[in-house]
Amino acid sequence: MTTHPATLKARYAESLMNTFGEPRLALVRGSGAHVWDEAGTEYVDLLGGIAVNGLGHGHPVLVAAITTQLETLGHVSNFFTSPPQVELAEKLLELLSPLVEEGAQRPSRNLGRVFFTNSGTEANEAAFKITRRTGRTHIVAALEAFHGRTMGSLALTAKAAYREPFEPLPGEVTFVPYGDVQALRAAVSDKTAAVILEPLQGEAGVLVPPAGYLAAARRITTERGALLWLDEIQTGMGRTGRWFAHHSVVELAETPPDLVTVAKGLGGGFPIGACIALGEAGAILEPGNHGTTFGGNPVACAAALAVIGVIEDEHLRDRAVVLGQKLRDGLVADARVVEVRGEGLLIGLTLSRPLSAQVAAAAQAAGFILNNATPERIRLAPPLVLTDEDAGAFLAAWPTILDTAFEGADQ
Ligand SMILES: *Cc1c(COP(=O)(O)O)cnc(C)c1O
Repeated sequence: MTTHPATLKARYAESLMNTFGEPRLALVRGSGAHVWDEAGTEYVDLLGGIAVNGLGHGHPVLVAAITTQLETLGHVSNFFTSPPQVELAEKLLELLSPLVEEGAQRPSRNLGRVFFTNSGTEANEAAFKITRRTGRTHIVAALEAFHGRTMGSLALTAKAAYREPFEPLPGEVTFVPYGDVQALRAAVSDKTAAVILEPLQGEAGVLVPPAGYLAAARRITTERGALLWLDEIQTGMGRTGRWFAHHSVVELAETPPDLVTVAKGLGGGFPIGACIALGEAGAILEPGNHGTTFGGNPVACAAALAVIGVIEDEHLRDRAVVLGQKLRDGLVADARVVEVRGEGLLIGLTLSRPLSAQVAAAAQAAGFILNNATPERIRLAPPLVLTDEDAGAFLAAWPTILDTAFEGADQ
């Protein structure tokens, strides 16, 4: 007979691997942009499951889509296909066409091909395998980038603390400073298979490259015959106010990236990712080159279709732009904030002192969940359905949250 210690957190400590550190909270329920812990305390969720819960918690359209699909056809394996899988692939290719952003009709040409996965890192693994089939093995990635924790994605992630315990990692990877066109040009050769970049670096605390950087990356990769691979796992699916963050780069409408990976916001909390290869890159993988049991599962695809539908119907990309601006304007008004960055509802800020853990703790005590991405940098990625009232309440509490954190640090 096992007797359970009192709290979920205590049981967690004895039954789950200690890879994430102690959970901040044991959450039992969510609705919209609000969550509740096991003691019944309510929080405004300004992290959204790390840019995942775009529709917030328990959105009725998402719940209905998942429920209905599970009742209709839950899982079939990739020996078969199903309506949600094909519809979602078509929809993602349509959304990736930059013209669609402006309301144009779906072009009928070869747009590309999709491979579905269950997570972000698996989407990157699929893209990594595509790069290998170019016959080249060298990859260029950015410092401070995050691309996932499986061995291939980890090879593309510069952070020493993540990589070093697991070396040797696959690939010949050159890391360059993010946003530096000269460094990128110097690193890419005619042996380079691909350049992988995040349009904004999310895990790093929402770093924004200088204007023209992604367009320069497109020119450099085209000149050297390398693939341009954009990791939109955190930035995609309306979070920045565009379907994909790179849609804000005008030049990429003419010559889009070759590979785009998505996950986090795609399923609104239901696990799904996708590796999308545009144009000719879509034909690189051949039968037998890759596979998955769960990827493209009808329920996951139905969830993603529901997410896309709600983002369209509730005009959530416009909400992301308006609310994002309101939050950034309010956050920067305090002298203890030295910089606020981001697009739409992917927001990063730098504190004047390395007190982000204290700020996150003070925010939580005040009923707001946010993320200390680095010691100085805070990240917000709230549900796109965040209300004006919740945003206003957070901005009203913000100076007091900073007081608590900064004054506490001086005692
Ligand atoms: C979260 C993230 C990943 C990894 O996704 P998982 O679903 O955690 O495997 C990869 N790239 C970026 C940019 C991310 O933000």
